[in-house]
Amino acid sequence: MARVDLDGNPIKPITICMIGAGGFIGSHLCEKLMHETPHTVFALDVYNDKIKHLLEPDSLPWAGRITFHRLNIKHDSRLEGLIKMADLTINLAAICTPADYNTRPLDTIYSNFIDALPVVKYCSENNKRLIHFSTCEVYGKTIGAFLPKDSPLRKDPAYYVLKEDESPCIFGSIEKQRWSYACAKQLIERLIYGEGAENGLEFTIVRPFNWIGPRMDFIPGIDGPSEGVPRVLACFSNNLLRGEPLKLVDGGQSQRTFVYIKDAIEAVLLMIENPARANGHIFNVGNPNNEVTVRQLAEIMIQVYSKVSGEKTPATPTIDVSSKEFYGEGYDDSDKRIPDMTIINKQLGWNPKTSLFDLLESTLTYQHKTYAEAIKKVIAKPVAS
Ligand code: NAD
Ligand code: UDP
Repeated sequence: MARVDLDGNPIKPITICMIGAGGFIGSHLCEKLMHETPHTVFALDVYNDKIKHLLEPDSLPWAGRITFHRLNIKHDSRLEGLIKMADLTINLAAICTPADYNTRPLDTIYSNFIDALPVVKYCSENNKRLIHFSTCEVYGKTIGAFLPKDSPLRKDPAYYVLKEDESPCIFGSIEKQRWSYACAKQLIERLIYGEGAENGLEFTIVRPFNWIGPRMDFIPGIDGPSEGVPRVLACFSNNLLRGEPLKLVDGGQSQRTFVYIKDAIEAVLLMIENPARANGHIFNVGNPNNEVTVRQLAEIMIQVYSKVSGEKTPATPTIDVSSKEFYGEGYDDSDKRIPDMTIINKQLGWNPKTSLFDLLESTLTYQHKTYAEAIKKVIAKPVAS
């Protein structure tokens, strides 16, 4: 049966230029596009480890529909040609781990703003549609964060729910270099929006709210640098795999909503296949029902990991660390992130499905299967004297 869009029109196969296709989100999006659609993908990245299973062997049913182009968009003249040959460009490339924002602010700003500029320009000049990945971090802190601690207004959703077309972007001072990422993402959003308004660029901006699942980031010392600090899912997974306490930054009081990567990818596919409903829009993509403090996240992950690995919960499950100790000078944090879902519901009829418990169960099962043996070997190795 022919696949149809949300308005009942048949979906025509298109060619997608996906930049950053070798990352966490890119790998899941490539998988979805190969398994469930007829679209063709030019997968651009400096790495392809997370999509190797889609590229080889040549006998895969979708062989020919996905090609990998190893390139760095900072300096590669092939970029414009690939964008021109595609119908749609999806830009996922970014430095997007908080440990980098205050320690490598220049790389962060260049990656999230300067390096994205040519992509926007080539799309605009060649009348190509662009889906650009921004972040929920552009909202920064909630208005409620500035109310007195005991103010009853803190409980009023008007002071914390984040709305694409209404909420302000509230960042800390320049010394708080944490906000270098959010600020660069905000400026590229404004530029894309301006290209839409002045030059007719067909764009969609995605603001992911803590998408998590298999293949996110790396486990330090196994498939990433020993001293590297990935995002919270991989940090806590690493601690659990090694039987170490989970580190709670500044008491783990910040709140987050986590959405399962597979739910979120459904939303992206709807954007790809329903351009008339997605163009000109900015979409929050998250799960407002999966809110926890970071401390609660740690507690649930400890329970779930014990269930999936069969190992006892550690005697000291968590320890508190200061953000200065963990991330260094200039770290700051978003206090609370609840996405308003009105726009994505109305335009694309999308809703997340997976509960926090279920998504952690499948993700930690994957982490255990993928890394437990490798970690055991590393731990067993005698330290060189
Ligand atoms: P990721 O780090 O796994 O993927 C990014 C990919 O881009 C990597 O594979 C990297 O090698 C590639 N890349 C970076 N610079 C490049 C360059 N100069 N040339 C070629 N490739 C380059 O991150 P992700 O979680 O998949 O995030 C993808 C996008 O979504 C990013 O723009 C990020 O800011 C945004 N985002 C993600 C989340 C989330 O919850 N995962 C939250 C907010 C925003
Ligand atoms: N965090 C933590 N311990 C860790 C890693 C992260 O307490 O080992 C906290 C971090 O300070 C932040 C939250 O977890 O409040 C989410 O961090 P993440 O790196 O996933 O990115 P963010 O949601 O801030 O973009």
